[in-house]
Amino acid sequence: MHARIEQTIFLDVPVQQVRFAHGKRLEGLHELGIKTVRDLIDHYPFRYDDFSQTCKIIDLPLGKKKAVLGTIHEAQTRRTAKGKALFEITLTDGTGTLKAVWFNQRWLAEILVAGKDIMLLGTAEHYKGLLSMSSPLYTLIDNPKAQDISEESDHELKSIDAGVSPVGIVPVYRANSAVSTNWIKRLIIEARKKTPEPLDPLPPTLRAKRRLISRQIAWQGIHAPKNHEELSAARYRLAYEQVFWLQLGMSYTESKQWKGFSSFEHQIIDRTMDELVDILPFVLTPSQQSAVKEILDDLQTPTRMNRLLLGDVGSGKTVVALHALVVAAGNGWQAAMMAPTEVLAQQYAASVGSYLDRLGISWALLTSSLSTADREAARTALALGKTSVVFGTHALLEPEVSFKMLSLIVIDEQQRFGVEQRKELRKKSPAADFLSMTATPIPRSLALVMFGNIEVSYLENRPNKVQVITKNFKSSLDYKAYEAVRQAIGRGEQAYIVCPLISASPPDDQADIPYLDSLSDFVDEPYIAAAEAELIHLRTQVFPEHRVELITSRVKSEDKLRIMSEFKAGKIDILVSTTVIEVGVDAPNATVMVVLDADRFGLAQLHQLRGRVGRGKKDSQMILVSQNPGEQARKRLRLLEQYSDGLTLAEADLLERREGDLAGTRQHGAGSLSLVNVIRDKTLISAAHADVQKLLKEDPELSLTKNVFLRYEMQQKESMCMS
Ligand code: ADP
Ligand code: MG
Repeated sequence: MHARIEQTIFLDVPVQQVRFAHGKRLEGLHELGIKTVRDLIDHYPFRYDDFSQTCKIIDLPLGKKKAVLGTIHEAQTRRTAKGKALFEITLTDGTGTLKAVWFNQRWLAEILVAGKDIMLLGTAEHYKGLLSMSSPLYTLIDNPKAQDISEESDHELKSIDAGVSPVGIVPVYRANSAVSTNWIKRLIIEARKKTPEPLDPLPPTLRAKRRLISRQIAWQGIHAPKNHEELSAARYRLAYEQVFWLQLGMSYTESKQWKGFSSFEHQIIDRTMDELVDILPFVLTPSQQSAVKEILDDLQTPTRMNRLLLGDVGSGKTVVALHALVVAAGNGWQAAMMAPTEVLAQQYAASVGSYLDRLGISWALLTSSLSTADREAARTALALGKTSVVFGTHALLEPEVSFKMLSLIVIDEQQRFGVEQRKELRKKSPAADFLSMTATPIPRSLALVMFGNIEVSYLENRPNKVQVITKNFKSSLDYKAYEAVRQAIGRGEQAYIVCPLISASPPDDQADIPYLDSLSDFVDEPYIAAAEAELIHLRTQVFPEHRVELITSRVKSEDKLRIMSEFKAGKIDILVSTTVIEVGVDAPNATVMVVLDADRFGLAQLHQLRGRVGRGKKDSQMILVSQNPGEQARKRLRLLEQYSDGLTLAEADLLERREGDLAGTRQHGAGSLSLVNVIRDKTLISAAHADVQKLLKEDPELSLTKNVFLRYEMQQKESMCMS
């Protein structure tokens, strides 16, 4: 036990206590954010190259990374038409022939010579009728050093960077020029030697319940997996842990912060709700109704509401929030609704305010553009409780603003505010129920890892039933897209044509392309649609009979305003633009959007763009044109045809990504979620969330004996966040 405690403590000593972690390598480690031994061991591979299972050339699947074993039949270096060095070999294994090419890696000619047996790991594709791999990884089979490099001897250490050949499942680490992936592997082996059996912080009951292997075995399995089963058990355990610590950190801090505040228990007064229904000019959609119900339920309970209302732009979130405002005011308490811009706050005042007027509820607008005297008066009314509802901007956060009895806080477009700002407002009344709203599609599992203990309500459709059909066309069929534009104009409607670039950049002759993903990239350097050039083409060649105008961020702002208002007024038929039209443009008569080189945009961006059509009463279409997207890109674009709803789309998109790629998740300093994918690991996230809630309910201070290591580790992590 004693030794295990020492090892556990060793995890949090500076990383230079690990053998070989000094000098330039130490600097390299620091650059990667690795300061302690724990950081080093937690630096998990971002990828594995699988040399463990080879297949015959004849069985090589296309488009999938696979390893093959064979003999080099022929090797040669060539120059391409553009003067780049190209090294190519032919590999045979008795079942077939495979070509492999590398660009600008002349030295390969000395290593990969005819007659040698090698293993290649790469993605096969058909190129000019031949089965080919572009820039595969390679291993020389007859190389005496082709052993597991974890075999230790100082002599071998020297060869760590000399390209020792990989075998088995080979981890690849995020690295830099001072410390290579092979060195990181080596250092981790050294660190693990000192800590073979640290204490497992997760209580045994929890491990049994979730079938988690011990941490020491998991570390072994993630850094040096012998097979795929070991790797996946290790990944599961460590991914669970990543979510667990994040959840524990957030929930523990939050429960400490709000300790001793009990929340408001709102009464729902049916008569007031009925009056509200009467004055609304429309009936709520089913998903608005269920969101309202979820929110009113929360408002009635004694626990503080922490709810996120999610819905695409135009899905009608404001009127849902209005219901909550009315409840707070109806109880004689106060509500504050904060928006990121003055314009938005004024819009609330105008629209929501007029409903409140008719219900006899007092309200005010508080922004920094009010005169000092007006602001003073507004603040006094709030402090005295004379105003029930206040709409405002950041001005609400000022220390001079106080409330008599603030029972509800609403933050609109919450993604536009920082964590600190949201906290600032909540401090004005820690017991108040809290509702945030956003159009950014955040699946529940993502919300959990971003914000901790939160519930999500979701508005599914826009209230108007207009359909936007999405189609994909190859660029050779772009005339079909333009035909759709022509027809729309014929019906008296308008269209957008969106390009990824503003202007075509000058050809870049000097650029040496060090690595290419596929052969086709190498052959055609593609032209990418640029708005300025497209404008001329469209005006002169495609739509000479129509009025075509341009909007990009380069257009002067007075021209922009003029063009926008002319477009809205129907004087312009086609608007060529970049993503500047993503936000704020509202032209209900525009029914077709063509996006050129659509594969150059992110999914979320394309979905945002799609929100620009279908804003009126007419069904609309979005046409995505792309030249030659890879398999991945084509899949992504097809998702847009399948899903018109932002959340489903976001889920499908997130499935492809690691959590570590997502902005916003590191803001808590709770460490990395490098192993977690929010969609694939949904269940795991919910499990860790539930486990943490249960744990803190039983033992809010984590003072029980069985939780002592847990508490120790949490404190270590906390102190790391602070430093
Ligand atoms: P967002 O979710 O983007 O904040 P808004 O709340 O601004 O959307 O609502 C967009 C528009 O839809 C507003 O003009 C609003 O009055 C209208 N609206 C909201 N709910 C309905 C409904 N159930 N039926 C018809 N129109 C609605
Ligand atoms: Mg809104």
